[in-house]
Amino acid sequence: MPPVSGVRAAAVYARISSDTEGKALGVARQLDDCRRLADQMGWSIGQEYVDNDLSAYSGKRRPAYQQMLADLADGLRDAVICYHVDRLTRRPVELEQFVATVDAAGVRKVRFVSGDMDLGTGDGLLIGRIMAAVAANESAAKTRRMRRKWEQNAAQGVPHGGSIRPFGYEADRVTVRPNEAEVVRQLAARYLAGESLRSLCTWLTDEGVSTVTGGEWRSPTLRGLLRSGRIAGLREHRGEVVGPAKWEPIISPADRDRILARMAEQVVSGRRTPRRYVLSGLLRCGRCGGKLYASPRENSRRYVCLKGPDHGGCGRLTVVAEPLEHLLVEAVLQRLDGPELADVVAGRRGDDAAAELSDGLAGDQAQLDELAVMFGKQEISAREWRAAREPIERRMQDRQRQLTALTRTDALTGLPGNGGQLREQWDSLSLSRQAAIVGAVLDHAVIEPGQLGSRSLDPSRVRAIWRV
Ligand SMILES: [Zn+2]
Repeated sequence: MPPVSGVRAAAVYARISSDTEGKALGVARQLDDCRRLADQMGWSIGQEYVDNDLSAYSGKRRPAYQQMLADLADGLRDAVICYHVDRLTRRPVELEQFVATVDAAGVRKVRFVSGDMDLGTGDGLLIGRIMAAVAANESAAKTRRMRRKWEQNAAQGVPHGGSIRPFGYEADRVTVRPNEAEVVRQLAARYLAGESLRSLCTWLTDEGVSTVTGGEWRSPTLRGLLRSGRIAGLREHRGEVVGPAKWEPIISPADRDRILARMAEQVVSGRRTPRRYVLSGLLRCGRCGGKLYASPRENSRRYVCLKGPDHGGCGRLTVVAEPLEHLLVEAVLQRLDGPELADVVAGRRGDDAAAELSDGLAGDQAQLDELAVMFGKQEISAREWRAAREPIERRMQDRQRQLTALTRTDALTGLPGNGGQLREQWDSLSLSRQAAIVGAVLDHAVIEPGQLGSRSLDPSRVRAIWRV
């Protein structure tokens, strides 16, 4: 008569060990009891597995046990009988391994002759414990598998999934959307030219460009877009660039480096409030050499030298803002049309130092790429990968900082020879854009002492120090 249970090839496991219980409980008795239980359950025994393991907790391999796990994994066994759970596994981690194996093999029938020996209750609790372990193991394994998958995806430059497509790309996260890519390129260029995120958000709103979710652009969203490795064709994982991506870049990695450099610089200078003075940060006191600060007053904006611990100036110089701004902006626009500026800018564009830094960064990135590939092929561990990246990333940060100094010249792109045209547009430009243009040409201006409280400005008080 065939067994009603449907079990045709149960595994029976027995083990003798050096512990007291093991001595008292010989393999023969374990096997006898297991066979009896199989009979009661109507299970056919496929194979009996016996280990002689006299050093418990030694971690020594148990060949019969390993064979049983292998047979279970291969689908050769459809149930397991053992005298007690402590015969089966010696440590909790082994129980997990066992549970994972039977679970993966779809074997749900696991019985113990003596489930109540230590636990005080029957098989039910034991099986409950195993099933709980199955559940815990399953969810932990799932997390591990997913994390592993993410890391592999990252190392291979494959996009990470997500429900919202990235700006500039189609939903497949690889195909570039030409119209949005053009917006990204313009944003990058204008940001590098000194425009503020806030001003760029306003521009996007004016142009009717919304975010991928149809909302209005805000500075944090825009900052995230511009600083993302994605738009430069770089794959990031947990906020770090891990290598080249499978998708096309919209801007060059070198431009992204410059964007990061400018963002880092702004964090240091801490300027968050909207700019209200086009010459902020560009004026020096002719008495003490200190910086002049914007000082809003009713009806008359001023730049002033401030004393005290925060500013350290002499506090004895004030200049009315409006005539000074007219004077210096006009000087800047005239300078933009001068022949020497075009030459300087043309020379600067091919600046050897910038090229060297960019090459260095590209070399560093190539090294990071190689490491990512090695990690992807599992030639190095995650720990080795991290350790190897550290010095390279430090070097890259240094180079990015140095590039910052050269970034300002970018604000001049397309400007020389266009002073006249700019003069017509000037009032329609955002303050941030105006300041970027002035700051690209003017290093600073020294304001000499003059008649206090005067509403007009003596041009001889102003000494411009040109950047180019
Ligand atoms: Zn001063």
